[in-house]
Amino acid sequence: MTDLGLPDDILACLFDLDGVVTKTAVVHAAAWKELFDAFLRGRDGDAFRPFTATDYDRYVDGRPRAAGVRTFLASRGIALPEGAPDDPPGTRTVHGLGNRKNELLLARIRADGVAAYDGTLHYIEAVRARGLRTAIVSSSANCRDVLRSIGAEGLFDVRVDGVVAAERGLPGKPEPDTFLAAARELGVPPARAAVFEDALAGMDAGLAGGFGYLVGVDRAGQAEALHAHGADRVVTDLAELGPRA
Ligand SMILES: [Mg+2]
Repeated sequence: MTDLGLPDDILACLFDLDGVVTKTAVVHAAAWKELFDAFLRGRDGDAFRPFTATDYDRYVDGRPRAAGVRTFLASRGIALPEGAPDDPPGTRTVHGLGNRKNELLLARIRADGVAAYDGTLHYIEAVRARGLRTAIVSSSANCRDVLRSIGAEGLFDVRVDGVVAAERGLPGKPEPDTFLAAARELGVPPARAAVFEDALAGMDAGLAGGFGYLVGVDRAGQAEALHAHGADRVVTDLAELGPRA
């Protein structure tokens, strides 16, 4: 192992955004809860069962927006028409609910700003200083704006996010395609790349892609689940990996 806490044949590091680089996983979770609780209450009245943190971890976190809507509603036995990507926010379709969620998310980000995990930023700087290549791999369509808002665009050689995936027709996490595309663009075989993820769907993607080392970032007390989904190592902050000052 190197002083970065990685096997010494690793040449590239692929980082998830929300929950790994930025503290936006909690903002996403809050926006999803606002969306689904309003939807379920409108449908079931007082008999409604709220959207929980477990629902977020299992069905939504890490997935592309429309897949998050579809997967959670399916868990409650609800199927909505797909609709169209430009459905007005709040339309009773998969895309309409997804667009409403994005509206709620952006309102929260505008009000509160975006904060980064310093431990992650320092780690990425150390990774780059040792000559490893870096990519950001996110399901988010807001990835570029979020990176720009924290001044971190320059930390990544390659970006594969929700916008790039849609342009190239790549399926999102838990499929491995977005991570594989990033590794290919960096010119590094998957076995020589490490994946850093906080979401179970993201860990599934790393495992399915045959990546050399999987680091689970446990921000929500789900270390055991991250291990069960394939993590080689679980940390609560990337500073735990090194390097020692
Ligand atoms: Mg994440």
